[in-house]
Amino acid sequence: MEIKRGIAVSPGVAIGPAMVLDAEGFRIPKRFVKESAVVSEVRRLEHALEKARDEALGNESLIAGKLGHEYGAIFGAHAQMISDPKLRREIVGLIEEQSFTPEYATSRVLRRYVQIFEAAGPAAASRRSDLFDVEHRILRHLLGEQREELSHLTTPVIVLAHDLTPSETAGLDPKLVKAFATEEGGRTSHTAILAGALEIPAVVGIGRFLNDVSGADTVIIDGNRGLVILSPDEKTLAEYEHTEEEFHHFEESLVKLRDLPAITADGERITLMANIEFPTEVEHCLDRGAEGIGLYRTEFLYLDAKRPPTEDEHYEAYSRVVSAMNGRPVVIRTLDLGADKLAEDLESGERERNPFLGLRSIRLCLRHLEIFKTQLRAILRASSLGPVSIMFPLVSTLMELRQAKMLIGNVMEDLDEEGQKFNRAVAVGIMIEVPSAVIMADQFGRETDFFSLGTNDLIQYTLAVDRNNQNVANLFSAADPAVLRLIRMVVKASKRHNVPLSVCGEMSADPIYTLLLVGLGIRGLSVTPHSIPEIKKIVRSIKMSDAVKVARKVMTIDNARDAINYLRGEARKILPEVVG
Ligand code: PEP
Ligand code: MG
Repeated sequence: MEIKRGIAVSPGVAIGPAMVLDAEGFRIPKRFVKESAVVSEVRRLEHALEKARDEALGNESLIAGKLGHEYGAIFGAHAQMISDPKLRREIVGLIEEQSFTPEYATSRVLRRYVQIFEAAGPAAASRRSDLFDVEHRILRHLLGEQREELSHLTTPVIVLAHDLTPSETAGLDPKLVKAFATEEGGRTSHTAILAGALEIPAVVGIGRFLNDVSGADTVIIDGNRGLVILSPDEKTLAEYEHTEEEFHHFEESLVKLRDLPAITADGERITLMANIEFPTEVEHCLDRGAEGIGLYRTEFLYLDAKRPPTEDEHYEAYSRVVSAMNGRPVVIRTLDLGADKLAEDLESGERERNPFLGLRSIRLCLRHLEIFKTQLRAILRASSLGPVSIMFPLVSTLMELRQAKMLIGNVMEDLDEEGQKFNRAVAVGIMIEVPSAVIMADQFGRETDFFSLGTNDLIQYTLAVDRNNQNVANLFSAADPAVLRLIRMVVKASKRHNVPLSVCGEMSADPIYTLLLVGLGIRGLSVTPHSIPEIKKIVRSIKMSDAVKVARKVMTIDNARDAINYLRGEARKILPEVVG
């Protein structure tokens, strides 16, 4: 048994067979061959070894011709490794003695070598990529066209991957993917956010671990504590089967909160809304008692599409959400593309050098007016169906807000001319997620109908910490005093200008921050639908006087670690089941 630690990003516990997707996406399930097939399977292996060796030799002369003999020799060494009788004996041994398939036996033997090399120190560890290369070369010949991938799943698995892109994650089928864990990724990466949306338990940012596991090994994912347990022993397995059950009971116990208001014990009303990425999530929102949609991340309409969605496709998605929410407010955020979500230039297809500081979000929309106008037309048309608001992401200057509002005016004129219905008084707000918007919140407050604090990006841009990078994940903290001071500034500006303020970054869904946010004066929280019941439970258990006291105390703490420990202690007193 081996325990790996990462960042818990989507709660829940799952136990099941591993599907390992390394950089090339190979899945090597633990399968067995019939006794009568052993001889032919060994022959299949030998054939694949031969082909893999020939291929490596071919590469040796090709690369030697192109780059010189010392480079060609790398592949010469691969060919030698593939034809090493010891390697062959070990793989054949597993097929003959344990009836493993040649694929599984090959993967097992080569991954054991990787572990031995890694344990031998950094110099030997550098050979791991050679071993993976050799493994993949043999597997390619064994598997041929039968390589199994995420889209071909037929039975439930636990996906273990180096990384999953937001669109790969969006495509996961929660019925077949019971949980996932990745080597890369941070707490508020979009992959993590999507795991929450799909309600798939997930742990990210584990660091290298894929070579310690083979396909079909039993794995436990503990999305509450950020643990991945490889090949668990009997005792751990039994404990986790129990935890899995308890977690379901706890979730069920929260269902009865659905129709109760989010009101503190001393009568202060908090508005609890939901963040969504797909129209299909609306059902989850209603099941969990969301009072509205506080953030609809519309860019996910783009992620799977081969071409930009048409106005009618936009309209269809929005009208579905607005109608299903049946009179509850829906805040539609305009496209937040770029950075980790479709980072290529829309025309040239090139990637920017530094996409998080590049042409993303509102900047990209203001550069591609046709795309922006198409979306604005669809949102405005949907505003005739219910209480829709428009929200602009990543606004960093007043000029951007003014330009975007002017475009809304232009689009309204066009719609008027065409006789289309829309709400002329549609509310227009901004996300506050870069420090410049916080500093200028006073001015923004005069020109906008509402603020929504996007703490995910605000933390990233304030602390200069990439939200997706596990190497600096320890620095990414909503409890950092610099971040908290900025939040307090926004609360003050919103009060001064009477502009409603909510928080929609992941911080709002983390129960350790509820007391603090309410105590700082925030009255609106928009969270992943799954978190609504537990946040509501906290809200209903606290008194304003305590929340204010906690906020005052936290604002005197000068570092994130102490602030988190203090907040965790306070939240644990209220909801020990979810605050680890
Ligand atoms: C944020 O940045 O906090 C936010 C809610 O937007 P996103 O996570 O989509 O960038
Ligand atoms: Mg953001």
